[in-house]
Amino acid sequence: MAVSKKVLASIENSSWIRKMFETGNVLRAQHGAEKVCDFSLGNPDVEPPAAFQQALRDVVAAVSPRKHGYMPNAGYPDVRALVAAQVGTEQGCSLTGDQLVMSCGASGAMNAALKTILDPGDEVIASVPCFMEYNAYVDNHGGRLVLAPSRPDFDLDVDAIVGLIGPRTAALIINSPNNPTGRIYPEATLRRLSAALLQAGKKTGRTIYLLSDEPYRKLVYGGAKVPGIMALYPHTLVMASYSKDLSLPGERIGYVAVNPAADDARRLIDGIILCTRILGYVNAPALMQRVVARIQGIAVDVEIYRRKRDLFSSALSAMGYEFTIPEGAFYIFPKAPGGDDLAFVKALQEELILVVPGRGFGMPGYFRIAYCVDTPVIERSFPGFERVMRKLHR
Ligand code: PLP
Repeated sequence: MAVSKKVLASIENSSWIRKMFETGNVLRAQHGAEKVCDFSLGNPDVEPPAAFQQALRDVVAAVSPRKHGYMPNAGYPDVRALVAAQVGTEQGCSLTGDQLVMSCGASGAMNAALKTILDPGDEVIASVPCFMEYNAYVDNHGGRLVLAPSRPDFDLDVDAIVGLIGPRTAALIINSPNNPTGRIYPEATLRRLSAALLQAGKKTGRTIYLLSDEPYRKLVYGGAKVPGIMALYPHTLVMASYSKDLSLPGERIGYVAVNPAADDARRLIDGIILCTRILGYVNAPALMQRVVARIQGIAVDVEIYRRKRDLFSSALSAMGYEFTIPEGAFYIFPKAPGGDDLAFVKALQEELILVVPGRGFGMPGYFRIAYCVDTPVIERSFPGFERVMRKLHR
């Protein structure tokens, strides 16, 4: 067999998001693309802002020697400095360019960071529901993902997390605003988490690193603020990208920043630089580094997503769906009527509506809607959502 047993098994158990995408292709071929309402993929539908288009034109037009040559694996020093200044402002601490490495999206940042910190058999905790690629990323580097439940309102359950910490625990991943719930973890929770991690680390004799996955930081509604985690916990690595807030997921551009107050901060950065190289990324895309450096702090118009969230939320609650209103990102995570997420998702498919079952995020009994799609598609789906609700609640 040409393909390893492990990769073969992973292909067969490919992620629910991918499965839904493939089901969507079959339904589109059978019924026509315009008939299918696909809410399965978090692929931003809002165009990048005008400032991005201008910066892209300027960077392409600029002539400089060796523009396309190799660069330091961490990225261009001037780009790192500009991005670090912005991240420092968001995080409420002072950051310089040598504390940040440019990456191939948030996924590249996470893989470089996990390879840097994990020894074989180490454990990484994440709170469900969560982005399940974490499982593969941790496994890529010899670790094991351990899942903690969250509170009924999807806030972190600090006691449950602490209960899972043992001598093998190397890190905790958090993601706020959260995919799939849209929850922003409140500062009070993060303060309790910080105190608990410090205490648990003393007990196990090992620093527990906090990997804060923040690609949705700028997609927040109604003036909500995402607390700066670096100011609250010293051993923090922030990883993020411009995939969602500038609508650039295909460009693979992001970064990882290490809190200067973290244990072994310098060695962590050196490790992440090395891992960026040896994982085969070598460096983050050159053109996009130069572009994003010019438009720090800018994001797409979040009002567009806010209107879609409100439209979807009010229709679903009028039909009797139960969920908490998302505070950020572009997902809604309601309870599956009838309780069985697979049966519900299947019933919706008969209406040519695609969503992802909650088990795809480690939480059966729920389902995820990605509402980053055209408004008419959202409106067209309402009768189908209503019929399935009535059918399953008969
Ligand atoms: N983390 C979360 C929570 C995500 O939802 C995603 C993408 O959907 C990523 C990381 C990966 O982001 P990127 O495309 O920048 O690698």
